[in-house]
Amino acid sequence: MTAADMIATRRLVIVGNGMAGSRLVHELRRRDLSSRWQVTVIGDEPHAAYNRVLLSNVLAGTASASSIHLAAPKPSSDDGVEVRTGVAVVDIDRVARVVTTDDGRQIPYDVLVLATGSTAVVPPIDGLRTQDGSLVEGAAVFRTLDDCDRILELARNATRAVVLGGGSRCRRRQFARRWRRGAPVRRPGRGTYKKVVIRDGRITGAILLGDVTTAGPVMQLFDRGGVVPPDRLTLLFAGMGSSDATETPARIPDRATVCRCNGVTKGAITACWLAGARTAEDVALRTRATTGCGTCRDTVEGIVDWLAASATEPRTLSQRV
Ligand SMILES: Cc1cc2nc3c(=O)[nH]c(=O)nc-3n(C[C@H](O)[C@H](O)[C@H](O)COP(=O)(O)OP(=O)(O)OC[C@H]3O[C@@H](n4cnc5c(N)ncnc54)[C@H](O)[C@@H]3O)c2cc1C
Repeated sequence: MTAADMIATRRLVIVGNGMAGSRLVHELRRRDLSSRWQVTVIGDEPHAAYNRVLLSNVLAGTASASSIHLAAPKPSSDDGVEVRTGVAVVDIDRVARVVTTDDGRQIPYDVLVLATGSTAVVPPIDGLRTQDGSLVEGAAVFRTLDDCDRILELARNATRAVVLGGGSRCRRRQFARRWRRGAPVRRPGRGTYKKVVIRDGRITGAILLGDVTTAGPVMQLFDRGGVVPPDRLTLLFAGMGSSDATETPARIPDRATVCRCNGVTKGAITACWLAGARTAEDVALRTRATTGCGTCRDTVEGIVDWLAASATEPRTLSQRV
């Protein structure tokens, strides 16, 4: 018997193809060099895994559904990972170690991970639900890509809307009051609150709620302690003025963290590009940059474009790298 035979294959079933489930698969694939784990991911949503945090952008029309997909395995059994979408787990037999899906399939496991996230809380208001428990016409929750479609469909002919639930927005507003300096911009009708605190020409704090289009440049300047541009409105509104709110990619130091969620530096992105990654998606697959909150996407795309342009001047690129 060879050493490889002695490492028995283990079956991992992950229920939930969301942010946690897809991250687990990614990390396992990265560490399981001997391919010991045979993984099955079961998700009841019909889509590939996506970044739920960016759903608001899809609803606002500032991001497409495809742009928020996570760098995760496609529905296939390649690479020891099978992803089954549009299928719900309806039963778990812990004694037999088998899960049953709503299409009647039984899937055995050695290890089971429940990465099923949370459900939207619907307050017990009379008349909000039909007899079968579903929401009445005109009411929707906001948790999934399909919810986005439903809300947009409802909004098409609607003239008035009531939103229940403020979540972290309320807490962040309280936090905002503690700051003494900076010019806040409130646009209550559009759910927008922005504030950038500047001391000695550098950003010391910021709040961007609602419209977060300048979050990437603001975080870059904050991380790097960079001097803010002369036209400070560019920190609050994308496309305002002629100056760019961030520095050009060439001036970002290699050690600067570009993707804070995944701790990816500009140097790591450059190394990734030199190893063959030619698009922001390629970089995301290899480094996970852009797959957290997503606000660094413009910066990553800028770096990739800059690297491509620099490649026509090889000496310049190698000097910079
Ligand atoms: C609109 C919105 C905005 C948000 N904004 C932020 C933010 O700004 N910052 C932040 O930190 N967090 C935010 N969150 C919360 C964040 O999205 C969650 O914390 C995160 O998605 C949790 O990841 P998860 O993988 O545990 O669960 P999820 O991403 O919810 O994934 C769980 C998946 O499991 C599926 N599932 C459940 N039961 C079953 C079953 N029986 N069989 C098969 N599949 C099943 C679910 O349908 C879902 O697809 C936001 C959430 C929403 C809805």
